[in-house]
Amino acid sequence: MRVLVTGGAGFLGSHMCRALLGRGHRVLAMDNLLTGRMETIHDLLDHRDFAFRKWDVSLPYEVEADVIFNMASAASPRKYQIDPVHTMRTNVMGADHALRVAQTCGAVMIQASTSEVYGDPDCHPQPETCLGQIDPASPRACYTEGKRAAETLCFDYQRKHSTRVKVARLFNTYGPAMAIDDGRVVSNFLVAALRSAPLTLHGDGAQTRSFCYVSDTVAAMLALMESGDAQTGPYNIGNPGEISMRDLAEKIRDLTGSQSPLVNEPPVTDDPQRRCPDISRAEADLNWAPRVSLEDGLRHTLEDIRTRLAKLEGQGTGS
Ligand code: NAD
Ligand code: UDP
Repeated sequence: MRVLVTGGAGFLGSHMCRALLGRGHRVLAMDNLLTGRMETIHDLLDHRDFAFRKWDVSLPYEVEADVIFNMASAASPRKYQIDPVHTMRTNVMGADHALRVAQTCGAVMIQASTSEVYGDPDCHPQPETCLGQIDPASPRACYTEGKRAAETLCFDYQRKHSTRVKVARLFNTYGPAMAIDDGRVVSNFLVAALRSAPLTLHGDGAQTRSFCYVSDTVAAMLALMESGDAQTGPYNIGNPGEISMRDLAEKIRDLTGSQSPLVNEPPVTDDPQRRCPDISRAEADLNWAPRVSLEDGLRHTLEDIRTRLAKLEGQGTGS
């Protein structure tokens, strides 16, 4: 099939491109390189079934495709808040443009939504029926409300135009190829531990997340692509193993053998306090469940970050 991956030079998008090529599909990665890097896909550039187009998805585009993975959007809170207006446009207009292409080609549009649609949830763990609690005026809302509006557009296109849509609500995913300066917690802690720098906890570190290794998330996205049109979701995709940020910091310190201190910084605005997916819907409909333990996933991610840091620091550009 001809597959468009928007955000294809990002962390998750690059893994998706590689997995799709591995299954014999033709892949077009579209990315404006805002948080993505050509380095994540450099090994794919010579592949005969791979093409890259530099484009900002908040602007309309035309593509022939059978499947669209709409993954373009900065995902790190630190990054998506730099230009919140652009983040909102990317998520809302980017979804609209992808849906138009899907409608025109009869393609299926698979939306990379997020657990952030639950905000600071009042139900725990979160099933897809949890409606979420979000302040639309929050500095996080450019992303959370952008993703919520994108889901609304998906289901409105389906109701109004019979467009084929599928929505995956991804919970925190981590793994090799995360940018060194991404700003999300796993890469921040690994990089700090390797540099013997402090691991900074926002607030008291009691807040929790549930981390899913990238190969498990990719497997779920592929299962969703291969599912029937009735499987529209939304589907929670994540690993239900829940951990506090303090315990994560300690685990990473143990894993790296680092002596880095843990330091507390002021909490960030509207930081969700608990996050854990109920994945029973995805397990039942997609016959999918995560397989990689946090320990194994962190070990793979550590090796990747260690190698890239050594290269960077060898070049004298240790950032
Ligand atoms: P990432 O920042 O590594 O990748 C995002 C990619 O989108 C980058 O390559 C970036 O350059 C590109 N992009 C951003 N704005 C764009 C625009 N206007 N036009 C074209 N390209 C643009 O983040 P990621 O973790 O790989 O996330 C990928 C997708 O998955 C995002 O949509 C994100 O919201 C979603 N998601 C990720 C996670 C996670 O934990 N990794 C969790 C939930 C949802
Ligand atoms: N966090 C932290 N230190 C860091 C980066 C993040 O304590 O260096 C916290 C952050 O406040 C949040 C959790 O770790 O409670 C996960 O943050 P991340 O940015 O990875 O993703 P989020 O789930 O908030 O989008």
